[in-house]
Amino acid sequence: MDIKENVPLAPLTTFKIGGAAKYFVDVATEDEMREAIGWAHEKSLTFIVLAGGSNVLVPDEGYNGLVVHIVSGHFSFAHRELDADGGCNLLSLIQAAGLKGLGGWESLAGIPGTIGGAVRGNAGAFGPEIKDFVHKVKAINIYSGETRVFVNAECGFSYRNSFFKQNPKWLITRVFLELHKKNSSESAKLAQETIAEREKRHLQNVQAAGSFFMNPVAPQNIIEMFETEKGVKSRESRVPAGWLIEKAGMKGAKVGDAQASLQHPNYIVNIGKATSHDVRNLAQLIKLEVFNQFEVELKEEAVIL
Ligand SMILES: Cc1cc2nc3c(=O)[nH]c(=O)nc-3n(C[C@H](O)[C@H](O)[C@H](O)COP(=O)(O)OP(=O)(O)OC[C@H]3O[C@@H](n4cnc5c(N)ncnc54)[C@H](O)[C@@H]3O)c2cc1C
Repeated sequence: MDIKENVPLAPLTTFKIGGAAKYFVDVATEDEMREAIGWAHEKSLTFIVLAGGSNVLVPDEGYNGLVVHIVSGHFSFAHRELDADGGCNLLSLIQAAGLKGLGGWESLAGIPGTIGGAVRGNAGAFGPEIKDFVHKVKAINIYSGETRVFVNAECGFSYRNSFFKQNPKWLITRVFLELHKKNSSESAKLAQETIAEREKRHLQNVQAAGSFFMNPVAPQNIIEMFETEKGVKSRESRVPAGWLIEKAGMKGAKVGDAQASLQHPNYIVNIGKATSHDVRNLAQLIKLEVFNQFEVELKEEAVIL
């Protein structure tokens, strides 16, 4: 095991914020995960798991323990099934499946990060969510070392949520997806169109963690206000957090170099040299303002380490 010391974490995240990990290790296999976690236990260190780094905010002071960085990347196809290591990049999988004549999940193209991260947060875009394509998930219990396979119904999927998010002792090591037959060029075209649509709606190449807050369940009067104003139906009694943030007058609000995006106010963007403190302070102000005006509590989607 190649444990490194004082590894800067900011470059490994899309926010580009935060200090260094006291200890850091890349792990690609279940055995390496067991070994790394065993090492942390032996040294009485805490540890955290980092994958694509597209949904995390690292503290300015860094992390005073072991960062276990998932870098597994093997995948294979059998009929309509794609089996992929948790560390595989989601977009690369969508593209590889397309080349094999498999698809159906192209609307998820452009969500940064890994398939493991996507399953943990039940990532979704334009309606579909990763849960719609997951057949089974293999995970390792980081305390006992036991591995277990969870069928879709056992994964506890709901909006940006899963059993794995609620039970972080289970690390996703492999994901088994069931895809649809799809013409390769059609799949590539759909993925391209999705990426272009994402760019049009809000720049993707920003230093951010995507939507900072989850879309909250709102009281009926707020849902009605949203539906009348936007002419669309609320899903699961939720309203977009970005809409609430804008209505609360916080679009464009800044703390230091952290800004609630002018294009998509639910993106908190590092527009220069934002610190983790700036982001957390801005998030706090946004939450307060939204609560004061609408009595709706915003909850973070991004993981604040
Ligand atoms: C520009 C931009 C756009 C985005 N758009 C979307 C979008 O449209 N829809 C959407 O849902 N999300 C979106 N996101 C958020 C993000 O891309 C997803 O949440 C992504 O699935 C996170 O995966 P990751 O590998 O980067 O996870 P990380 O950021 O590395 O980790 C996030 C959390 O997951 C845990 N984790 C990571 N891997 C595993 C694993 N194998 N097992 C268990 N836990 C694990 C980590 O410990 C951490 O708590 C966007 C982000 C950005 C920057």
